[in-house]
Amino acid sequence: MPHHPHPDPYTGQYEDGNALAGPLSEILAVDPTTALGCCTGCGSQWRLARLHVYAHAPGYVGRCPDCDHVILRLVRSPDKAWLDLRGTVALTFSLDT
Ligand SMILES: [Zn+2]
Repeated sequence: MPHHPHPDPYTGQYEDGNALAGPLSEILAVDPTTALGCCTGCGSQWRLARLHVYAHAPGYVGRCPDCDHVILRLVRSPDKAWLDLRGTVALTFSLDT
């Protein structure tokens, strides 16, 4: 039997994704263009409102205003929306308190 000198302290301590309903609803309710992002290409930071958005494709493509790296892609159909955020490290939302 393998020996694990440093067992994962988080094993079995997770909840399912329903635990995200409240926290995600809170941030998705604010104006997303004010969110602060960070480019995975060049590391610059900006508000989403500063992205260069190309809306002539089947969806929207948002590019970094500093290096032109693709930050997000959004495709909308009548009954679904598909959002790819792989070009940003994270988004920070300012919340009213
Ligand atoms: Zn960039």
